Amino acid sequence: MAHAVKELFPDTRLAIGPAIPDGFYYDFDSGHAFTQEDLPRIEEKMKEIIKANKPFIKKELPKEEAARFFRERGEEYKVQLINEIADETVSLYEEDNFIDLCRGPHLESTGKVRAFKLLSVAGAYWRGDEKNKMLQRIYGVSFPTKDELKKHLEFLEEVRKRDHRRLGRELDLFSMNDDIGPGLVLWHPRGAAVRRSIENFWLDEHYRAGYQVLYTPHMAKLDLWKKTGHVDFYKENMYSPMEIEGLEYEIKPMNCPFHVSVFKSHLRSYRDLPLRFAELGTVYRYERSGVLHGLLRVRGFTQDDAHIFCMEDQIEDEVLRVLEFTLFILKTFGFSDYDIYLSTRPEKYVGTDAAWKKATGALENALSQKGLKYEIDPGEGVFYGPKIDIKVRDTLGRQWQCSTIQVDFNIPERLDITYRGADSKDYRPIMIHRALMGSLERFFGILIEHYAGAFPLWLSPVHISILTISERHVEYCRRIYDFLIAEGVRVDTDEENEKIGYKIRKAAVLKTPYMCIIGDKEMENNTVNIRKRNGENIGEMTVEKLAAFLKDGISGRRQS
Ligand code: ZN
Repeated sequence: MAHAVKELFPDTRLAIGPAIPDGFYYDFDSGHAFTQEDLPRIEEKMKEIIKANKPFIKKELPKEEAARFFRERGEEYKVQLINEIADETVSLYEEDNFIDLCRGPHLESTGKVRAFKLLSVAGAYWRGDEKNKMLQRIYGVSFPTKDELKKHLEFLEEVRKRDHRRLGRELDLFSMNDDIGPGLVLWHPRGAAVRRSIENFWLDEHYRAGYQVLYTPHMAKLDLWKKTGHVDFYKENMYSPMEIEGLEYEIKPMNCPFHVSVFKSHLRSYRDLPLRFAELGTVYRYERSGVLHGLLRVRGFTQDDAHIFCMEDQIEDEVLRVLEFTLFILKTFGFSDYDIYLSTRPEKYVGTDAAWKKATGALENALSQKGLKYEIDPGEGVFYGPKIDIKVRDTLGRQWQCSTIQVDFNIPERLDITYRGADSKDYRPIMIHRALMGSLERFFGILIEHYAGAFPLWLSPVHISILTISERHVEYCRRIYDFLIAEGVRVDTDEENEKIGYKIRKAAVLKTPYMCIIGDKEMENNTVNIRKRNGENIGEMTVEKLAAFLKDGISGRRQS
């Protein structure tokens, strides 16, 4: 691709062009502003290069010499890259009249490329730093066979249709804007209704699982974040402190120290443990504007957070409970396919070897007791303890990291928390951090894509739309509306003076699970006529029966 771009736009300078998990890209500095329309032309040139079937020839050069070579050609970005390489020599690959810095390996010749497609153009800062020049990035993908490429392009089309940013707009669920600031989410009424259903479910199930629910402030004195170690280890994700009456305060990036403070508000005995504190806690973390992405990467978000304080020999049992709970919660959202990872001790760590061994063993035992398959990520644990990560797979088979269960030997030590043992001596409890959905914003984004916006009844922004056929049905429609609202059903009405076919299409666009159409017959019979969003007709029933039917579906949290 870089060769083709150089041929077509000779003034272009080459920056960097790696292979990435879903294809490849190249960043260009060019006087030509690339658009989607340029891609077919570049593809044509690439096909010529492939057809010529020139061999890729590898050259090893001392760094100095390679840097001189690229400097003479005006390829300053390559010179910068060479200067950052630690080795004495670098490798270059050449085919025909094109030469580029590359670690390799390469195909034997250009003719080995079988199937490829250029996908998109985007802006990208040199070295990913917004202080640097904005370059132009072209993305592409390549496969060994045309068939695999075709399948992948169909997959990408499905991904595009499910994009939560697009569906968020179309279904009027949420927005973000420059007046509020990037990465800060406005939940519109329809999105907020979905969130309320998630939160209600979350709260009920947490109480049922033996958690106690907390609310804590959005900021705390900077000194607290010094004590926890966040100022030392987490600074780049935190915002600048603000001053209030001569003291510095920090907006919270995490909920943990607040939960510890509640733990410390009483003398705790071994009989109180395990203590499980949960909170839908809103945190703020600094993310560079370049990495923000819809709901998936934001600056303010609500974690479904909890901290379990327990004794060392309770870890296994608690982790087992958390695992069962997590899988139940995920299943309720239609995720029954997941991958589990156990991360072990990294090079830098706190806590004793014995404690690490015991905790890691407890996590392993809990996983095997549940008969769960998992992979070990050696050395990928956090410095304060081992952890289990659960990544769900959505309808398209894409993997999303949501749940995490982390053992912590550090905070109990740093914030000096203790419980009184049976022998009247004080001991350090173990702390387990856990989030099941991760962040509500991100989880919502994943759900939108997972369901392609067609939420199951219990999660739908509106459960049922009432559509009137003509003006004379409006009064009857309002009676039904009032009745259903009072029954706790989320209803909207369409009383506009429009054709019923048009109203049905409008409700279908919003993916509302049920529609109820009101005409003369229904008014006469004192009934309603129900149809599903897929067009299936459920038939005529009384409004009481309709309410019971909907409430049953909502409380059953079924997937359709
Ligand atoms: Zn925590």
